[in-house]
Amino acid sequence: MPSPLLELGHVSKSFGGNHVLQDVNFTIAKGEIVGLLGPNGSGKSTLLNLVTGFGAIDGGRVTFDGQNIGTLPAHRIVSAGIGRTFQLPSMPRKMSVMEVAMAASTSHHGVLSTIFGSAGARRAEAAAHAKATVLLEQLLLTHVRDLPSSALSGGQKKLLGIVCALMSDPRLLMLDEPTAGVHPNLRRDIVQSLQKLNRQGMTLVIVEHDMHFIREVCTRCIVLDRGRIVASCQPDELASNEHVVQAYLGS
Ligand code: ADP
Ligand code: MG
Repeated sequence: MPSPLLELGHVSKSFGGNHVLQDVNFTIAKGEIVGLLGPNGSGKSTLLNLVTGFGAIDGGRVTFDGQNIGTLPAHRIVSAGIGRTFQLPSMPRKMSVMEVAMAASTSHHGVLSTIFGSAGARRAEAAAHAKATVLLEQLLLTHVRDLPSSALSGGQKKLLGIVCALMSDPRLLMLDEPTAGVHPNLRRDIVQSLQKLNRQGMTLVIVEHDMHFIREVCTRCIVLDRGRIVASCQPDELASNEHVVQAYLGS
């Protein structure tokens, strides 16, 4: 059995008296596409936030590829190899799509120009431009690359969010509702892009409500209910899992 890529042990988080996550335990293996499910308010976005360094865990352990990342800041977690997208993507409105993608590059212009002078900064910029060009093509955004990001549809902003996350070459990509509110044509593009990334070796954790998407894409599902994990099963086992049914019907 290979060691897990991501492992959470006894993770908990409260906001005031609100116990948002309680004793959360799971592992994600390399190559999986795991759907993270649960009713609204069950703690899915909070879980993504904690793993990616947006907020501190109260207790427990988060390990990525054997490294304890539970106390690292967000930028160190990106460097460790985890990328993410947000439920509601926000980006500078006036920057072009290409500029937004390039700004997400982790090759550090400031440091490079200190070491190598302006030639180093130019090399870093050229490398970021080349990488953004490839990713914008892969996520079907080449035709809008010179438009301001404010001109994109909601679905295109989700695609650009994926491009930005990929600029740092993550090994694990965590997506928060990548197809919510997205036109069906674009939804198909997102599905195909994610499946292609997975074939190239990327491990994916996806918060998603759309059952068609989950059946089509996910190799396993983890279900949260009021901050606790109540099921880990195959997509086609969800409907017959009493804990899952209970979570969605409420008690
Ligand atoms: P989901 O993504 O599953 O819909 P969230 O993780 O967004 O759920 O929210 C889970 C619970 O945590 C909700 O009760 C929400 O109000 C609360 N919560 C999330 N973030 C914060 C925060 N920054 N401060 C206070 N409460 C929060
Ligand atoms: Mg959410």
